[in-house]
Amino acid sequence: MLDNTLWYPYTQMKTATKYPTVEKGQGEFLYLDDEKEVVDGLSSWWSTIHGYNHPKLNSALSKQLLNFSHVMLGGLTHQPAENFAKKIVEITPAGLNHVFFSDSGSVAVEVALKMSIQYWANQGEVNKVKFLSLRNSYHGDTFKAMEIGDDSDFQESFQHALNKGFYLNTPTGGFNATETELKDDFDALERMLSNHGHEIAAFILEPIVQCAGGFKIYSPLYLNAASRLCEKYKVLLVFDEVATGFGRTGKFFAAEHSDIVPDIMVLGKALTAGYLGHAATVTKSKVFNAFLGTSYEQAFMHGPTFMGNPLSCAVGLESIEVFNDENYLNKINHITSTLKNELNHFKHPEVLCTKVIGAIGVIEVKDQESLSNFREYALQHGVWLRPFGKYLYTAPPYIIGEKQLLKITTTMKNWFTIKT
Ligand SMILES: *Cc1c(COP(=O)(O)O)cnc(C)c1O
Repeated sequence: MLDNTLWYPYTQMKTATKYPTVEKGQGEFLYLDDEKEVVDGLSSWWSTIHGYNHPKLNSALSKQLLNFSHVMLGGLTHQPAENFAKKIVEITPAGLNHVFFSDSGSVAVEVALKMSIQYWANQGEVNKVKFLSLRNSYHGDTFKAMEIGDDSDFQESFQHALNKGFYLNTPTGGFNATETELKDDFDALERMLSNHGHEIAAFILEPIVQCAGGFKIYSPLYLNAASRLCEKYKVLLVFDEVATGFGRTGKFFAAEHSDIVPDIMVLGKALTAGYLGHAATVTKSKVFNAFLGTSYEQAFMHGPTFMGNPLSCAVGLESIEVFNDENYLNKINHITSTLKNELNHFKHPEVLCTKVIGAIGVIEVKDQESLSNFREYALQHGVWLRPFGKYLYTAPPYIIGEKQLLKITTTMKNWFTIKT
């Protein structure tokens, strides 16, 4: 039994058995009860890309801590937030020039949605208040984020309370799909936008990989079509890169698999390397400029208490420095090759398919029962992994050593081949 005082996420508190206690983190390792060492295969929900207890990140954080840990951004400003915003503009695709901070990915998604609605309202278009998104998408757990999502695991209990918008199927054919294979998806998108464009404020999607929505990978060509058609039917294009950003798909941002720059890009999770909760909604000047005017009402009406928190900004800035200085894209490339070698050819009667992109490796099973008790099995073998639904996946910290990565993939495969 779990302690009933602390209410855990996505957990049936009545039946869950006691969770392991983390006593320390170091590099790619977590140390659980009584110093048991396990290798972290999940980067704490895609966030701890540098592993744990990183000296440079620790030092950036301590330095800021001794200066001031927080100050409101309403009516005051500070260097950490200004520098971090500048750095984000520098690393995101050209054209994304303005950064609005918030405290979590879900809130940053809400910010993108509110911005989209007000963007149109400021131009007199008050009927554009709905959203288009993809089937199987996950965009966060707050209310509107749930409404634009389509992931039954997260929303089942709220279906009756949700005011849903419009959805399109996840594009078919995987990463290498051709224009011809995607024709039906392009047509469906055009039909949707020509019928409903007048009431849709924005089309939001995770570029290239729908992560928590089930690791569905699709072609960059779809992003081209989305960009062209959104422009044609006057709908804003929003990329949710909360999970895909910061190298996870093999590019700094998943958008870079194409040459499309969205109107709005949402960042979170690895933005602060797992040190503190922070997120950013980054926009083109076209969006930002629609909020300029002489009236207060035209300004963007949002302001989380902890937006631009100096500790988050200081550690986020250092995280990007380390990412670039130590050529993390190269490290990610090595992870991709190892994951491909290990998983691409793996076959088993219970396994439907395997998928690898960037630093994500997935074994998808036919029946989710195949994965029950995997978590305990992996812990016994010194690996921290937590499958969900039909997906046994790893998204390791980028600093992981080859030997430890092999330990993760071997544990994933052994579960099927030498069950004990
Ligand atoms: C995790 C996630 C979110 C929500 O971020 P939180 O920080 O958990 O609120 C939004 N979008 C995507 C794609 C995510 O993976």
